[in-house]
Amino acid sequence: MNLLAELKKHFPYIQFVHSQEKILQTVFSGKSALAIMPTGSGKSLCYQFPAKVGQNLVLVISPLIALMQDQEKKALDLGIRGAAIHSGISGSERVRKYQKLKDKQYQLLFVTPERFRKKEFRDSLSANTVDLLVVDEAHCISLWGHDFRPDYSKISEFRKDIGNPTVLALTATATPSTQDDIIKQLGLAEQCETIYGGMERTELAISVEDVYSNEDKNDKIFHLLNTKNGSQVVYFLLIESLVKFSNFLRGKKIEHLVYHGDLGKDQRASSLNRFIKNENVLMLATPAFGLGIDKPNIRQIFNYEIPGSIESYFQEIGRAGRDGQHAEAHLFLSDDDLSISMEFIKWAYPEKEFIQKFYYMLEENSISLLQEGFSFYREKLSFKNRRDYRVESAYNILERWGCVIPLSEVLSDENNYAAQKGFKVTLREPTETDFKNENQKVLFQHQNKKLLDIYSWAKNETKCRLGAIYEYFGADYIECGKCDWCHENQ
Ligand SMILES: [Zn+2]
Repeated sequence: MNLLAELKKHFPYIQFVHSQEKILQTVFSGKSALAIMPTGSGKSLCYQFPAKVGQNLVLVISPLIALMQDQEKKALDLGIRGAAIHSGISGSERVRKYQKLKDKQYQLLFVTPERFRKKEFRDSLSANTVDLLVVDEAHCISLWGHDFRPDYSKISEFRKDIGNPTVLALTATATPSTQDDIIKQLGLAEQCETIYGGMERTELAISVEDVYSNEDKNDKIFHLLNTKNGSQVVYFLLIESLVKFSNFLRGKKIEHLVYHGDLGKDQRASSLNRFIKNENVLMLATPAFGLGIDKPNIRQIFNYEIPGSIESYFQEIGRAGRDGQHAEAHLFLSDDDLSISMEFIKWAYPEKEFIQKFYYMLEENSISLLQEGFSFYREKLSFKNRRDYRVESAYNILERWGCVIPLSEVLSDENNYAAQKGFKVTLREPTETDFKNENQKVLFQHQNKKLLDIYSWAKNETKCRLGAIYEYFGADYIECGKCDWCHENQ
């Protein structure tokens, strides 16, 4: 197949960018590939193209509904028969889409891994031949990645069920050891090629600045804010510091939006919508915000505290400058931050008694999770220490063990849980085996190592900021010419 000729014939492009052509050659030759490429570097074409020119279905597994909706629309605009089936669509739309899937009407289909839990879906899918299985945000499959998602670990089983098609795994943030784990978890072993594409963020200027207190941080961010020229996001590790900064801004009469885990489902949705729809907005958020949002004009990202890993950091700052125009990332570092982050990691691995207590509390009262988020349980279990996020961690762990309904499902509320009498998120009590199998000590050490990696990156004075990040992900060191280190050393 002449790939370039097909590209020009079916798509509004005249050439491939980054590693698109290499990726397509690989998967068309029947070989699986793991591609390390950030969002915004043309990865969607890597599944749109095979969907458009191929005979059968291209199935994309994605962790995020927002991203799937966006991709469904883009596919339709390109004249690809595409669809996204997720918990955010109505019952009647779902039935209609299942039927069309059964009738082999689709070329490109987006689902979350949780969709495979539904028998109706698997039945409709089984009428199709899947030519290519795309695993988006593939680092979610690895416990060593920074964003583990339990249902991702079942993808190799799903793959068997659909006849072991060629796999294209995509991720923006995987270190060499996480890359190895992705390949192993997907069962691809030797038949997989690793391809780097478009990691360079030439429009992004990174700076890391030492500060002495939160007041100092507040003032610095306040002076850097520019509310007339594009959107901005300030990321917080702690809800506590987010709320304090929000009060500070209110005192200065600066309009802003907030997004964090202590807000109810409706408040979060409305905040997100306003961020997407408006031109020049300022958002204060915890790291859960922004996943899958493709807003082109984010001009500045601020990190109020140091994130837990280079992976998280690169993902967060990667949301700036998607339109290719100049964008800035400011990270503030104070002496307290390392201890806050270490405490944060400690909270990620709550003790057995805590997990059990939380489970029983959920069993007794699940509805508060829908209405108030985690704050209800935190106040009861953690004595109102707002920094303590053990309840979120405990939920994650229980979800991984299959003891509770996945949080994403609860929040999207496909089944209208809030209206169900006696609604429960709990499925089964955690057992001794669950506790024994989870090697918390190893995971804890691993997270601490990731934190030390980003801390030494931030403190490093011998390398370009971006170049050092490329190296961390196993790519070539290239000096960016825009970061604070490059400015001082060129
Ligand atoms: Zn640089």
